[in-house]
Amino acid sequence: MKLEDFPKDIRPFIIPNHDGDLIYRCLGCDLECGIEKLLYTCPDCGQVLMIHDLNWERLKKISGEVWRRIFDYRKMLTIPALKGIYLYHEFLGPVIPLDAVIYLGEGHTPIIEANDYLQKKTDVRFYFKNDGQNPSASFKDRGMASALSYISFLVKKGVVSDILAVCASTGDTSAAAALYASFLQPHVKSAVLLPHKKVTPQQLSQPLGSGAAVFEIPGVFDDCMKIVEMLSENYSVALLNSKNAWRILGQESYSYEIAQAFEYNMEEKVVVLPIGNAGNITAVISGFLKFYETGVIDSLPKILGVQSEHANPVYRYYLEPDAANRKFVPMVVKSSVAQAAMIGNPVSMPRVIHLVDRYNRKSGRQNVFFVEVSEQSIMDWSLLANRNGHIACTHGGESLAGLVTAREQNIVDGNEVVIVDSTAHALKFSGFQDMYFSQSFPEEFKITPAPGLVNTPIYIHPSDLAKVPASGNPLQGNDLKHFVKRTAEEIAKNLGLKKVTKA
Ligand SMILES: *Cc1c(COP(=O)(O)O)cnc(C)c1O
Ligand SMILES: [Zn+2]
Repeated sequence: MKLEDFPKDIRPFIIPNHDGDLIYRCLGCDLECGIEKLLYTCPDCGQVLMIHDLNWERLKKISGEVWRRIFDYRKMLTIPALKGIYLYHEFLGPVIPLDAVIYLGEGHTPIIEANDYLQKKTDVRFYFKNDGQNPSASFKDRGMASALSYISFLVKKGVVSDILAVCASTGDTSAAAALYASFLQPHVKSAVLLPHKKVTPQQLSQPLGSGAAVFEIPGVFDDCMKIVEMLSENYSVALLNSKNAWRILGQESYSYEIAQAFEYNMEEKVVVLPIGNAGNITAVISGFLKFYETGVIDSLPKILGVQSEHANPVYRYYLEPDAANRKFVPMVVKSSVAQAAMIGNPVSMPRVIHLVDRYNRKSGRQNVFFVEVSEQSIMDWSLLANRNGHIACTHGGESLAGLVTAREQNIVDGNEVVIVDSTAHALKFSGFQDMYFSQSFPEEFKITPAPGLVNTPIYIHPSDLAKVPASGNPLQGNDLKHFVKRTAEEIAKNLGLKKVTKA
């Protein structure tokens, strides 16, 4: 839609102006620093940073009603820079000029309602929001679109050049980082550190295909993270892990999209997320708070964070009901099918503690909950979801297993409508499905395949067939006829098909 065709009162707001005034603020000591520099932790106390808009109050001068119309009308624009996360420009990047925005098709992922079977089975009405339908097939693209748009902005301003972007990753961060960085080559190059044999073949192929330098490190993600921190403290590199507060900003778009998809009515809604490094839950909570404070939404949805029993430091922290007695203890993780969330010492834990407290206070009640789930239930629920029309990755399965657990514990009640985050595409983690189907899960996962969920290919080669076709070697004449007839018969027998008698 052309600008002149928008309603008169909305027209001045349709193209965002970049009148935000962003700063980094330390969560530990409140130190504020300018954003002209790439900064990841507080130069004074080393704590993580959040990005704040000193000019935030200006957004409150526009009513919630007008904001809702701005976002809804903005969807009709054809400007690429406003088609992704920057549809909500004022809320997540109000200093980034549109010509610096990197848009590769991220965001606005579909929200798909579960069929009757799944809703009966779980006893709750729910939808999957498929963040696997982002360009690199996980939600990490939201944060990278933000972080790389910011870098592109600095490059355009001439503040930086020849950037080497680095990250440690459980697989998806590096896929996203490498993809977005490659768009900005030759100004930006990327290097990624992965725990050796702890990412899937698909995840490994992604940064390789994007041309990143890929390093495989012994150990788990937490070890890679330490090395990346050492690199960022001693060398001139841009850190793209979720320590990078720009990534959190970009990931807030997930909340804005949910609000918009439900016509900004967040009453009796629940959002379920898996937790690894805790960047995602940080962003989602922060996003809903921003929409709430500006009147875009009138109530805050319930947030449910889910962790596997094999990597559950956040869940353990909140087991202690008395906030004063809570103590964060990093843990040693065990193998998990929710491999991208296999993190024992989440970088964003201070952000979680800060934001959960604020969220509950603003809600006037406890509104953030945490549950843990077994590896078995993660696999079973992701497979069952996918047998019912979904494309959930194991983390989507983890979210769904968490929802079922929360429903059983009455954390979620039958009237609520739930949005379940499937954080990546099922195909990225299909190796776990293979292990399930071929009964070859290593002992440490403690997973026993349920026969009803197992599915394997059936090779059809009737024993009485002397000749079968091969590539480059087709059958002809009677050989072909015989082959087709016998193979069809075999398949019909296998499926129990009855022959139709021709009239
Ligand atoms: C990164 C990731 C997670 C965990 O998100 P955090 O922000 O680290 O908590 C979950 N699922 C998938 C598919 C991921 O890539
Ligand atoms: Zn500080």
